[in-house]
Amino acid sequence: MTETDRETASRPATFTVHAPATGKALAEHPVHGPADVARAVERARSAAAGWAALPAARRRDHLLRWKRKLASALDDLADMITAETGKPRGDAVLEAVLTLEHLTWAARNAGRVLRRRGVRTGLLAANQRATLVHRPLGVIGVIGPWNYPLYTPMGSIGYALAAGNAVVFKPSEYTPGTGVLVAGLFDEAVPEHAGLLGVVTGAASTGEALARSGVDKVAFTGSPGTARKVMAVCAQSLTPFLAECGGKDATVVTADADLDAAADAVVWGAMSNAGQTCAGVERVYAVREVHAALCRKVVERAGALSVGPGPDSAYGPMTMPGQAAVVQRHVDAALAAGARALLGGSASVTGAYVTPVVLADVPEDAAAMREETFGPMVVINAVADADEAVRRANASPYALGASVFSGDRRAGAAIASRLRAGAVSVNSVLGFAAVPALPFGGSGDSGFGRIHGADGLRAFAAPQSVTVQRFAPPVNLTSFTAPAAARARAVSFARWLHRRR
Ligand code: NAD
Repeated sequence: MTETDRETASRPATFTVHAPATGKALAEHPVHGPADVARAVERARSAAAGWAALPAARRRDHLLRWKRKLASALDDLADMITAETGKPRGDAVLEAVLTLEHLTWAARNAGRVLRRRGVRTGLLAANQRATLVHRPLGVIGVIGPWNYPLYTPMGSIGYALAAGNAVVFKPSEYTPGTGVLVAGLFDEAVPEHAGLLGVVTGAASTGEALARSGVDKVAFTGSPGTARKVMAVCAQSLTPFLAECGGKDATVVTADADLDAAADAVVWGAMSNAGQTCAGVERVYAVREVHAALCRKVVERAGALSVGPGPDSAYGPMTMPGQAAVVQRHVDAALAAGARALLGGSASVTGAYVTPVVLADVPEDAAAMREETFGPMVVINAVADADEAVRRANASPYALGASVFSGDRRAGAAIASRLRAGAVSVNSVLGFAAVPALPFGGSGDSGFGRIHGADGLRAFAAPQSVTVQRFAPPVNLTSFTAPAAARARAVSFARWLHRRR
């Protein structure tokens, strides 16, 4: 082996990140293998002990310091997100702002949500004082997607740190720079706890190594197919697993809805970020009386969107090269099955850029209705009434978000309560995403578990129940020395009591 061969062999493998907008190489990142991942987890674990031991108020202050650092670096963050995903800069800024809101909420509320509190003991244990506290799990492995490379993983990272854990983050291989930047800013803002948020880069094999690494929980965001694989790895070591997966979100539009508002929201919900939003609008069920009018308004607005690499574009390219082919497959199959193209069609898919597609009368068993399209395409089907809309909306393997447009807010909320979805917005789309106190997550193919809100903090904590005996009980039922007669009296009393209650 020559000197050059030896040098090449000892250099870690790398991968190149390309700008989806131009195809230009942006950066090289290491492909971290199992040994690198183990080192990152070990480093995080040693940082975790000191972090968990801090009073909640100190952790809050550190996290708010990091938040201020992120706010000061907002331009750098937005530039990185735009470069790696291709989304317009305004969208990247909005993503960063939403992230700051969530981080602030998690930092400010973790102490209150997770602190030790007393619980009622009940009559049988009246001699005990009972308390419940939520303790950190240790090290959380976070595996993230590329579509919102800051906002989405921070829904796990920020809340896990606020709950007193360390984190090792594996960003998507399409957006590793965003992850590296965020972790670097943590180390700068909170140098005394540097290493608490570690980053490993690479694709599937790095994610798999993280799931195998002995972390105390894996928080995964991505497609259901990958979730199944990661969960199977976690199952081997009984590592707890949280799955935030895709969606096929429905919007219900009633006869008395404000159609301009509904059309505006549907177009934004379906087309912003080139439709690459887990809780974006993919299906619309409009009652027959207003279907045609809604379609006209959606087509008018969607047709006016500018699509391209420019700063004034409504949206940019598909981030992942293969996704355009999925959109095309869904459009082609729907049209072949008898759907009507109201705007665009197969020809809308031109390389990385996909112009808006609006379809109607799509059979409910078409891929465009069953699978996540994750592109700028929306289906608007007519239904007889709200009941049919709810039935069709709920007949999906996915159950993530949903929205309802109704002229009567009360009636809208009543429809919302019948929808099988983890989060529903009435008279807006994605309204819940900007409310940090609301948990977010789905069921079915959309995954399980919750991020955000108090549930999102508890997702990264283990409840510990403690009883402290205040005085000896009159009859000690947990002792072999309790006389049989006293035991029988206690049972008679319990029977009498429970027959009455
Ligand atoms: P993906 O499933 O391809 O990848 C997600 C992550 O898993 C990436 O970091 C990837 O490198 C990693 N990975 C891939 N194979 C792995 C393996 N075998 N073991 C461990 N890790 C592995 O998803 P994506 O294309 O990055 O993201 C898009 C998907 O994410 C869409 O389905 C979207 O709806 C979903 N998403 C969901 C939410 C939510 O909060 N519910 C938010 C954003 C995106």
